[in-house]
Amino acid sequence: MADECSPPFQELGGREPGVQEADVRNLAAGDFSAWMTEVQQAIRGERFSDVPCGGCTACCTSSQFIHSAPDETDTLAHIPAAMLFPAPRLPLGHVLVGYDQDGHCPMLIDNACSIYAHRPRTCRTYDCRVFPVARVELDDADKAAIARQTRRWQFSFDSPNARVQHDAVSAAAAHLVQHRQLLADDAVPANTTQLAVLAIEVHDAFVERDPETGMTKITVPASDAVRVMVTSRRRSQRGRTPGH
Ligand code: SF4
Repeated sequence: MADECSPPFQELGGREPGVQEADVRNLAAGDFSAWMTEVQQAIRGERFSDVPCGGCTACCTSSQFIHSAPDETDTLAHIPAAMLFPAPRLPLGHVLVGYDQDGHCPMLIDNACSIYAHRPRTCRTYDCRVFPVARVELDDADKAAIARQTRRWQFSFDSPNARVQHDAVSAAAAHLVQHRQLLADDAVPANTTQLAVLAIEVHDAFVERDPETGMTKITVPASDAVRVMVTSRRRSQRGRTPGH
């Protein structure tokens, strides 16, 4: 029978001053195994994310810079040129949309995306469920609304192995933080989003399967093996869309 995500995330739902009860209620994140397949496809650029956001606009109102690549011609045709500026450290043609004095995306009008059908690839691939799965906290004050939303997600698990896979992602994230000095400079996650995504990409290395029973458990791989894996993932990712 499916069970639900264990603490600490259930414990993180304490209400902050001014936050409505409806904004901290648990949300069904879906079946974990199905989500894992989909999020890995999204990371590889094979599909877009399908987040049951409901009325949430937290990631549109949290002082985020949104990247668009030169090949996103439809998106770029729908954003006024005055709102775009060159993306630092990326080749010519890569641009960012900033945010207004309230931290809101300028394309968010009346609390809805005014270019939803034409929105940037960054928005189409963003999935805030990566944070609770990797057990990483967004601690920037201007990301508080996203952090609050991430604490609400509750996955269901169809097998004990699915729960091990879930725990392997947080084991991978903790390992990457603890051994970051072993990673090449350009492979060190630059922010919490990159850390959570990288943990998802390498989490398989933290799962050991019993060949006889098929049951899995968490294992700790050699740091060098993780470093090699991270380096090769980073190389294959180069040129793909960065996250928020
Ligand atoms: S913070 Fe999460 S739930 Fe809210 S709009 Fe962004 S992706 Fe959707």
